[in-house]
Amino acid sequence: MEKTLELRSLGNTGLKLSCVGFGASPLGSVFGPVSDEEAIATVREAFRLGINFFDTSPYYGGTLSEKALGKALKAVGVPREKYIVSTKCGRYKEGFDFSAARVNKSIDESLERLQLEYVDILQCHDIEFGSLDQIINETIPALQKLKEAGKIRFIGITGLPLGIFSYVLDRVPLGTVDVILSYCHYSINDTTLEDLLPYLKSKGVGVISASPLAMGLLTESGPPEWHPASPELKAACQTAAAFCKKKGKDISKLAMQYSMSNKDISTVLVGMKSVEQVQVNVAAATEVEKDEQTLAEVEEILKPVKNQTWPSGIQQS
Ligand code: NAD
Repeated sequence: MEKTLELRSLGNTGLKLSCVGFGASPLGSVFGPVSDEEAIATVREAFRLGINFFDTSPYYGGTLSEKALGKALKAVGVPREKYIVSTKCGRYKEGFDFSAARVNKSIDESLERLQLEYVDILQCHDIEFGSLDQIINETIPALQKLKEAGKIRFIGITGLPLGIFSYVLDRVPLGTVDVILSYCHYSINDTTLEDLLPYLKSKGVGVISASPLAMGLLTESGPPEWHPASPELKAACQTAAAFCKKKGKDISKLAMQYSMSNKDISTVLVGMKSVEQVQVNVAAATEVEKDEQTLAEVEEILKPVKNQTWPSGIQQS
C-alpha cells in the first residue's frame, strides 16, 4: 500500500516541506554529466510526485547546479509560491568568502542564475571553513538585511561537524537563524545528529538532513572518486550494499527509509539526477511496509564503522 509524500513543518518558519527534498548538486554534474533535458525531466517528475523543496549552491558544479535548476524550474513552470528553494553563500569554486560584501553580491548572482526574484532560504555554506565569529558578527547580520530587502525569506547555516551549530546558535539572538542543514549525520552508518535534535527543537530551528545515501556510500554503484570517507568505511558500506543486492534488496531504498523515519527532521535531501531516481526515492518514502530485518542485518555489518566521520574545516581559534 502506498501513501502520498508527507509534508513536515520546518522549525518556526511556517514552511511545510516535502519529507523528501531534491538535492540539486547532481544537476551540477558532480556525480557524472547531466544534460539540460535530463535536469528538466527530473525536476518535472519531482513536482509530479509531490516534492516541493529544492536545494542548491553556487558551489555545486561551479554555478552549474544553480543554472540547471533555474532552467528546469522555468521550463516546468509551477507557480513560484508552490515550491521552496534554498541556495547558499560563502563557498565557491574559487574558495570561501563569508564577508558581507561577498554574500551581498552572491545572492544577486544566485537569483540571476536561478531566474528567481527571491529564495526561500539562504544558507551560509560549510561554515566550519570560515571563522565562526565572522559568521555570527558579519555574515548573519548581512543576511538579515537581505531578509529585510525581500531577497531571502529565511536564514540557514550548513556544515559537517555538529559542534558548529550550537556554537553559532548559542551566540545569536533567538530566531535569527531559522534553519540548519546537516549532512551525512543521519543515515544508517551515522546517526550522530540525533543527539542535537532536542536542542534544535528548543530553539525553534528547522532541521534539514542531507545525504541519506552518505554521498554515494550507501548505493550499489558506490561513492564518487572524491568521497572523503576512510577506506575502512567505504569497504564496510560496499559490503553492506553487496549483501543487500544478494538478498534482492536495494541498500539506497533502505537508507532513504531509515533517514526519513525521524519526524523531528523536516526533510531529507537526496541528490537526484534522473527521473528513475526520483521515482525510486519517492516510492521508498511512501511505502508503508518497512524491511526491518534487512535493516538490522545492514546495521550489524556497519557496526564496526558506526558514526565514523572525516575531518572538515579549519581549526577554530
Ligand atoms: P546523497 O547521499 O543524497 O547521494 C547522492 C548520490 O546518490 C548521487 O550520486 C545520486 O545520483 C545517487 N542516488 C540518488 N538516489 C539514488 C537511488 N535511489 N539509488 C542509487 N543512487 C541514488 O548525497 P548528496 O547529493 O551529496 O546530498 C544530497 C543533497 O544535500 C545535495 O545535492 C545538496 O543539495 C545537499 N547537501 C548539502 C551539503 C552542505 O550544505 N554542506 C552537503 C551535502 C549535501
